[in-house]
Amino acid sequence: MIGRREGLAEMRLLAIEDEPELGVLLRTALERGGFAVDLAANLAEARDFLAVVGYDAAILDRALPDGDGIALLREIRRSDTSLPILILTARDGPEDRVLGLDSGADDYLVKPFHMPELVARLRALLRRPNAALGITLTLGNLALDTVGRHIRINAQDVSFTPRETSMLEILLRQQGSVVVREIMEQRLYSLDRELGSNALEVLVHRLRRRLQEAGATPVIHTIRGVGYLMAEPA
Ligand code: CA
Repeated sequence: MIGRREGLAEMRLLAIEDEPELGVLLRTALERGGFAVDLAANLAEARDFLAVVGYDAAILDRALPDGDGIALLREIRRSDTSLPILILTARDGPEDRVLGLDSGADDYLVKPFHMPELVARLRALLRRPNAALGITLTLGNLALDTVGRHIRINAQDVSFTPRETSMLEILLRQQGSVVVREIMEQRLYSLDRELGSNALEVLVHRLRRRLQEAGATPVIHTIRGVGYLMAEPA
């Protein structure tokens, strides 16, 4: 059984796999591993997801109904060199491995594989120091270590839930500018999961209260009809 790891909770993955049974297995194993997962069955769907959602990593099958996953890998690498990408394939020739890695993949797994190995490899990719995740975000007396998911307020460790931590991270990454509500929702929840209409408000309300109780100086502002903005008081 794969244990849920708080440290990686709410990381968002895009899995691109056209075999329905394998897709379901992938999603189940990864969700159990603490990831939020969007599943695309072909290159076109994957492009749609990538256009609107910011992912922490992608799992890419090679043989897809509308082309080779390598084509998408090359497209992604033109604009994003840091997104960790793991290639899945039934092909096992050494030349295929080289092609995948030369095209910008970070890792390579040959089918059939064991789900725990996939989850372990993704965790390893997400822990790499050059991943965009390895930084401490600060604002006022608040600091968030994005790898360990530790929050410090006024130099004291404070414990937040994974979802509160994720929201805080999104706000801190865009501190001083508005995070559009829809973008916030996309980053916090899988696209195909039903979300109560006031779920975001409830989460913001709770996060505000927790920050206030812990004596944080930054404030979350609601920009009516647009989204949320985190800043130090003027
Ligand atoms: Ca396939």
